[in-house]
Amino acid sequence: MALAVLSIASEAVPLIKTGGLADVAGALPAALAPHGVAMTTLLPGYPAVMAALKRPRVLHSWDSLLGQPARLLTGKLGDNPLIVLDAPAYFDRQGGLYSDPQGRDWGDNWRRFAALGRAAADLAGGLVKGRRFDLVHAHDWQAAMALAYLRFAPVKGSVPVPSVMTIHNMAFQGYYPRETFRELGLPRSAWSITGVEYHGGVGMLKAGMEAASMITTVSPTYAEEIRSAEFGMGLEGLVTSRGDRVRGIVNGIDSAEWNPASDPHIASHFTARSLTRRAANKRALEAEFGLEPGDGPLFIVVSRLTWQKGMDVLVEVLDHLAGIGGRLALLGSGDAGIVAGLQEGAGRHPGKIGLRIGYDEALSHRMQAGGDAILVPSRFEPCGLTQLYGLAYGCVPVVARTGGLADTVIDANLAARSAGVATGIQFNGVNYHALAAAITRANALYYQPDAWQALQRNGMKSDFSWTNSGSAYAALYRELTGKA
Ligand code: ADP
Repeated sequence: MALAVLSIASEAVPLIKTGGLADVAGALPAALAPHGVAMTTLLPGYPAVMAALKRPRVLHSWDSLLGQPARLLTGKLGDNPLIVLDAPAYFDRQGGLYSDPQGRDWGDNWRRFAALGRAAADLAGGLVKGRRFDLVHAHDWQAAMALAYLRFAPVKGSVPVPSVMTIHNMAFQGYYPRETFRELGLPRSAWSITGVEYHGGVGMLKAGMEAASMITTVSPTYAEEIRSAEFGMGLEGLVTSRGDRVRGIVNGIDSAEWNPASDPHIASHFTARSLTRRAANKRALEAEFGLEPGDGPLFIVVSRLTWQKGMDVLVEVLDHLAGIGGRLALLGSGDAGIVAGLQEGAGRHPGKIGLRIGYDEALSHRMQAGGDAILVPSRFEPCGLTQLYGLAYGCVPVVARTGGLADTVIDANLAARSAGVATGIQFNGVNYHALAAAITRANALYYQPDAWQALQRNGMKSDFSWTNSGSAYAALYRELTGKA
């Protein structure tokens, strides 16, 4: 019999996405199906999710779910089962998933996502006839309260099931004032330093991490890094105390969506054996960004423009990049200060630095297909997807040695090059000198065509599809449930 898993997430492709979490939550059910895992996903009923439902059935209704009426409705996430928490007072809003149209966090986020957790715990506890789950998998702080409810306030008479808490980014923890605790419907015993209490308030991610049978992050290196104060964001003590209950499983990429041999967004299709066909994509990209055509390396960046992503340091190296004959095409959105710095740099180097401020999925494909190298100077990176797309598209990743970047790119040092396994360039420390030196190294390698093409081909051969990650999650579920 298939192992039945309830996955709880606040976003999932193809229905709703603001970041990498949506890619993972959306891809998991299909990746796990071949391993005998039947995954049902629980999502909040945002307008876009509700609009996608086709003749939903009502599985359950609450007159009051933490204060507001709510229902569970059936739906589909791709070919896999979906359950939607339809609670208009919580989720039927214009604006962002987590913030209002002015960009401020919704003031009742604690209640919205506690309600999601309560609904998940009820569902896992057998509230809906015919729906039984062997394991619960919660993603990020928005889903974490499910595990706290299962631990402290389960459905009466229900059998406890093992759980996984996956951290996609430790920087977001769902921390709320003490007063919210009494609204959560948890017993007083939950208010303890091994429960939901965290520095005098309610810590949602923390509560999930305390309750989970296993904590996972999205790369092995990040799983190690969050044991330290530098990366643990205050939770390093808890991570350390959970010992070997913390693991890393690297994300996969959707290889149907990201395949340069068939990508509908790019002008010239190619494979590792026809790299010369990338040239047409490079010319198209230069034209699209208003860059002078040239034979020198064309660097790309596709990123949130934030401190985490090291984009402030990128601003500092623009003159160096242009000075050594490089060009840059950048797509991103984020901090106003970083945008201003980029615009000044582009103004100093017309024809060499081109910017597109915004979010554009199709353009991101054209950039990976036409760029020579992708720069990813993140200060921390739980997994990172853009370097994986770069590998798949022969756009050589130049990355900071941290988190998932360290785990997925093989630096072109002498040993790796002589063994023929190098796929990119890594550098230590996110600062001007380290990034400038990495760009200089990339530039030098680019002018050794045999070496450069070896990097491209090796990258295109690396397998970061969901096949490996799917079997790692399935093995973990089996280990925790003890079911074959
Ligand atoms: P994070 O989730 O921390 O932002 P990841 O690298 O894990 O970083 O995932 C980012 C995802 O969002 C990737 O799929 C990337 O291609 C995409 N992305 C980021 N910024 C943009 C943008 N401005 N336009 C299009 N896609 C973007």
